Amino acid sequence: MTTAGICTIGDEILIGQILDTNSAMISRELGYAGVRVREMVSVGDDKGEISRAVEDMLHRENIVIVTGGLGPTKDDVTKSVIYELSESSGYVTDERQLEIIHRILSSRGLDVMDINRRQASVPDRCDVILNKLGTAPVMAARFAEGGFGHNAVLYSLPGVPYEAAGVMKDVIADIQERFSLSEIHHKTIMTYGIAESALAEKISAWEDALPAYVRLAYLPDPLKGVALRMSVYGGADDAEAVFSQETSRLRAILGDAIYAEEEKTLQEVIGDILRKTGKTVSTAESCTGGLVASLLTSVPGASDYFAGSVVSYSCSVKENVLGVSPDIIHRYGAVSPECAGAMAEGVRRLTGTDFAVATTGNAGPSASEDKELGLVWVGVSSANAVRTFDFHYRNDRKRNIERFAASALDTLRKFILAETANK
Ligand code: ATP
Ligand code: MG
Repeated sequence: MTTAGICTIGDEILIGQILDTNSAMISRELGYAGVRVREMVSVGDDKGEISRAVEDMLHRENIVIVTGGLGPTKDDVTKSVIYELSESSGYVTDERQLEIIHRILSSRGLDVMDINRRQASVPDRCDVILNKLGTAPVMAARFAEGGFGHNAVLYSLPGVPYEAAGVMKDVIADIQERFSLSEIHHKTIMTYGIAESALAEKISAWEDALPAYVRLAYLPDPLKGVALRMSVYGGADDAEAVFSQETSRLRAILGDAIYAEEEKTLQEVIGDILRKTGKTVSTAESCTGGLVASLLTSVPGASDYFAGSVVSYSCSVKENVLGVSPDIIHRYGAVSPECAGAMAEGVRRLTGTDFAVATTGNAGPSASEDKELGLVWVGVSSANAVRTFDFHYRNDRKRNIERFAASALDTLRKFILAETANK
């Protein structure tokens, strides 16, 4: 199997100022393409250390990807490491990247200076993969069998995460040309509402009965729930048939906890259903402060079905804007099923939508109204029904708010499905 190592460069990473998200992104992309990532390392902006780390990895791995240390402001440390490793004897200017640099700088109203021009200049033994989103191109240095004991390629990517992500497709294409990667098939099942450990228990018999060549990964995310990813490495002709059979077995166990049979978010799935049924939605949010609306509107074209939101943090906004009766708040408190239901009803009337979802809870760190910390009430409403559900989490404030919003979306999804299925 083709193997890889990732080396991220930057003092900022080592002192904990920035999080090394590039490694995760690159590893994910390589994994999808059928390359096995075996090691990741971060080193400071030091030529000797970068050189040592990269050389070491090249001895062990077919592919080494480095990111960072290419900026015009730095001393081009990465570039000079690659110059030496590739045994280059000079620099050449890549005219296509220079053109991109001109375009990017002029669109920002900036002149192209020598320092910018230098970014298009690469060691002469390297191939260039263009970076269309930024100024520093990808450099690829190739080593024949003799060098490191096996075919090896070194790729140097820009450090800026969105630029690094932007070049990955072309880097993968280049890798596919160099190495005969074993064929790989994936199928992702999105689930929500069952915690990872409970899910593992629930599906353990199913998991044990999976064909040996199907690998299963649990990928939890606070906003998406747990994704189950089945992978088949090697040229299994029947991978798709096996996936579809295993998916229906999984459906029989998990039912509507499965919200998609591909990589999707709750808000995308809700958007799909609403667009298909021609229905609309609005939100009333207390503890989630607009996050539910923000997630819904992160989907392109959300204006087709999303009307708006009321962030009703105070009781007075709940009463005066949403029309929640003061009696409800007085009797049951703001963190109550009665209030959640009334908020959903209120915003649905106010906006004239078919559906509405509301959140009211205690995100922490301190609880109000003697109600439990980490408790949220979610209310959903339509012309036919109002329903409320409680969820309990034990995280910090930020995590709780994310969980609350995701639970609200999942509740809304199930409610809309039930309401539209009856028709
Ligand atoms: P630039 O041309 O902008 O200087 P560069 O290729 O030199 O880019 P760096 O200077 O190392 O890369 O990093 C640019 C920015 O990208 C950093 O300020 C940092 O915020 C971010 N960055 C760098 N490496 C990583 C990483 N591994 N994970 C996440 N972000 C990173
Ligand atoms: Mg830089």
